[in-house]
Amino acid sequence: MKVLFASAEAYPLAKVGGLGDVAGSLPKALSALGHDVRIALPRYGMIRETKEDLGPFQVRIGGGTEEAHLRTSSIDGVPVYLIDKPDLYDRPKVYEYEDDGKRFGFFGKALLDLLPAADFWPDVIHCNDWHSALAPAFLKTSYADDPRYGSVKSVLTIHNLQHQGLFGRDLFDWTGLPAAAWSPEGVEFYGKLNFMKAGIVYADLVNTVSPTYAKEIQTPEYGYGLDGLLRARASVLSGILNGIDADVWNPAEDAHVARRYTKSSLDRKVENKRALQKEAKLPASAKVPLLGMVSRITEQKGLDVLIPALPQLLEAGAQVVVLGAGEKKYEDPLADLAKANGNLVAYLKYDEALAHRIYAGSDFFLMPSKFEPCGLGQMISLRYGTVPIVRATGGLTDTVTDVTHDPKHGNGFVFSEYAPGALVEATHRALDFFRSGRGWASLRKRAMASDFSWKASAAEYGRWYARAVAA
Ligand code: ADP
Repeated sequence: MKVLFASAEAYPLAKVGGLGDVAGSLPKALSALGHDVRIALPRYGMIRETKEDLGPFQVRIGGGTEEAHLRTSSIDGVPVYLIDKPDLYDRPKVYEYEDDGKRFGFFGKALLDLLPAADFWPDVIHCNDWHSALAPAFLKTSYADDPRYGSVKSVLTIHNLQHQGLFGRDLFDWTGLPAAAWSPEGVEFYGKLNFMKAGIVYADLVNTVSPTYAKEIQTPEYGYGLDGLLRARASVLSGILNGIDADVWNPAEDAHVARRYTKSSLDRKVENKRALQKEAKLPASAKVPLLGMVSRITEQKGLDVLIPALPQLLEAGAQVVVLGAGEKKYEDPLADLAKANGNLVAYLKYDEALAHRIYAGSDFFLMPSKFEPCGLGQMISLRYGTVPIVRATGGLTDTVTDVTHDPKHGNGFVFSEYAPGALVEATHRALDFFRSGRGWASLRKRAMASDFSWKASAAEYGRWYARAVAA
C-alpha cells in the first residue's frame, strides 16, 4: 500500500505530545510490514536540516496560487516530505498561533498539491487530527473530477476530539472549498468552519486510537458536539489502539537512565529510583513508594482530581514527582503544594530525558485522566515495570487491568469515578500492595510483559487501508 501519512507533528522532527510519538513510530512499523509510507509535515522553525530539494510547487488556495517549496528529510528510514512555506511555518512552535486556521488550511490543501511535485500517488492519504483534516474535503470536492486523484482514498484518525479546529466563515472562503460544502451536512458547525468535522464527513474511513474511545465519542459526554455525526458514520468508524516505539522506550537500552534493566533483572530498577530521588532531592529510600507522572498539565489529564488528592497521597507516605507543562491554573497550585511539601516535586517544563528517568525510577505512574483517547504514558510505564494507577476511560480501559479485581492478569490499579476520593482509594490499594510485598514482583513482571509495540496495530492499519481502497 502506498500511504501519505499527514501529521502536524512527527518525533523527533517536531513533537508536542502523543500525536508526535505516533507519527514518528507508526509509519516505521508500517514500512516494516512492506508498505510504502511517506510522512508529510510542515517545515517548522526547529527543523533546520533537510535532505533533498524537490523544488517549488503551487498550492491553489485563497482565490489564487501560493508557492511553497518541497523538501525532504527522513525518520528512521521513512521518507518525510517537508512543506516549506516560511511565512506560515518558520516559527519556533508547532501550534498556538493566531493564524493556525490558515497554517493548517494551507497544509490540508498542500497535501494534495504536492503529489505531482513529489510524483507520489498514494493509495491512501492518512490524515491525523484536525490539522490535516481538510484534505479529504478537498479530495471529495475540488478534486472530484481530476482523474489523477481518482484513486486516492483518505483515512482520518482522531487522536483527540476536543481539538477540532474551529474558524470563521472568512477562512472557509479563503480555502476555496465549494460553497455547497458550507452546510450542516458539510464542514459547517454552528456557523463555523470545523476542520475535524470536515474530515469525519469526507474521509472514506474514520478511526480513533482505542476501541473504547471509539465508542465514547459517539456519546454526548465525550462527543464535543460531534457525537451525532459520529453515530451516523458508525459503519466507517473504528478504534485502533496506538502502540509505543519499542526502540525509544526500552529499559534494556535506554541511554537516559542510570541503570538499564529487563524483566529478568528487575532488581536493578531500584537504582533508577535512587537516582531519581537524588535528582529530585527527595529522601532516599527504596521502601518509600514513589509515584511518577509525566503529562500535559491540562484539564484532560485529570488535574482537577489530582491536585485535591495530592495532600492525601502524601499523607499516605508516598513521594510524588510530576513532570509537565500546561495551564497556569494547574501549574500554580502544583508549585505551591510542592513548596509546602518535601515529598512532592513538580518539574513544570518539557524534558524528554527527565521523562525517561521518571518512567524508569518510579514505582507507580499516575494517570487520572478525565478522558483519554489512547494514552501513551501508561503503556510506556508498563514497559518500564512502573505500575500505572489510572482512571477507567478510553484507551486506559483498553490497556490497564485492575490487579485487585483480576489478580492473575492485572497490570495496574484502576478507578472509575472522576473524583479525588476515587484516586485516593486506588492509590491506597496500590500502596498497600507495594508495602505488603506479596505479588509485587510478579505484578511488575506482568506489567513489563504487556506488549504495546506497534506490531499488531500496524497490521490492523494495513487492513484498514485495504478497506479504504476497496470502498
Ligand atoms: P497526550 O498526547 O494527550 O499529551 P499521551 O499520553 O498520548 O498524551 O502522550 C504524551 C507523550 O508526551 C508521552 O510520550 C509523554 O512521555 C510525553 N510528555 C508529556 N509531557 C511531557 C513533558 N513535560 N516532558 C517530556 N515528555 C512529556
